Amino acid sequence: MKQRLRSFWGWGLADETLPEVYISEFKRMVQLAFGLNSVDETPPPRLEELSLRTPGFSLPSDLKSFCTQETYDRASHTYGKSFRDMIRAINRKFDNPPDYVAYPSTEEEIAALMRFCAEKRIALIPYGGGSSVVGGVEQPRGNHYEGSISCDMVNFDKIIRVNEKSRTARIQAGIYGPAMEAGLKPFGLTIRHFPQSFEFSTLGGWIATRAGGHFATLYTHIDEFVQSL
Ligand SMILES: Cc1cc2nc3c(=O)[nH]c(=O)nc-3n(C[C@H](O)[C@H](O)[C@H](O)COP(=O)(O)OP(=O)(O)OC[C@H]3O[C@@H](n4cnc5c(N)ncnc54)[C@H](O)[C@@H]3O)c2cc1C
Repeated sequence: MKQRLRSFWGWGLADETLPEVYISEFKRMVQLAFGLNSVDETPPPRLEELSLRTPGFSLPSDLKSFCTQETYDRASHTYGKSFRDMIRAINRKFDNPPDYVAYPSTEEEIAALMRFCAEKRIALIPYGGGSSVVGGVEQPRGNHYEGSISCDMVNFDKIIRVNEKSRTARIQAGIYGPAMEAGLKPFGLTIRHFPQSFEFSTLGGWIATRAGGHFATLYTHIDEFVQSL
């Protein structure tokens, strides 16, 4: 399931905008709550406004084919989706983007990335849906590393095997919630893990963060559904 372009600065899709009436009503509510005569509105950032620093290192040729330094990719992998992240993005503060974003499609490509990063002291950060609210997908600051690569797992989106008898499945880590449920449905199965970020988060991200499916009852934590990694 290919996704439409995501917003590089906030939650949701790039072409989704709020109806004008929501914005005016929200402004009215803030005015009333704080006794203000008017409220200034900051328009969302546009890609053309950003000038990201140049990558601090170059890539060997075997990594170039699946890594990019495009502004959209680097900006959209700079932050997660917490309130603090939104504020920094709305303020056009993209001062610490990853040097590159990698989109590997094979385990060999991930291994090649790991070898390069270990050798050159570069931080390699797995990126699932980027819905982290605790800085988990952010690049490290300081001089401990020579730079960073955000490793987007989006191409690892397959359900490899389903065993209907034992009701287990082998699934790649980068699959998004809706795609996984759609793939299991024909077998009459569900993971039954529904975090509020379901639409834009991945199996690998859920497991790495030990997510809780707050839209379901009883067994809701991802730990309860994982047989092995
Ligand atoms: C609107 C909203 C609602 C939310 N609702 C919930 C909720 O109901 N329950 C809940 O628990 N959380 C919730 N969260 C937090 C977040 O969605 C979860 O932490 C989710 O599990 C992150 O998944 P992700 O794929 O987006 O991972 P990312 O944000 O991309 O990554 C999170 C961490 O996991 C690591 N990681 C990602 N993929 C891999 C991988 N394949 N291998 C190794 N490490 C990896 C990253 O490096 C990072 O450290 C919510 C967040 C938002 C913005």
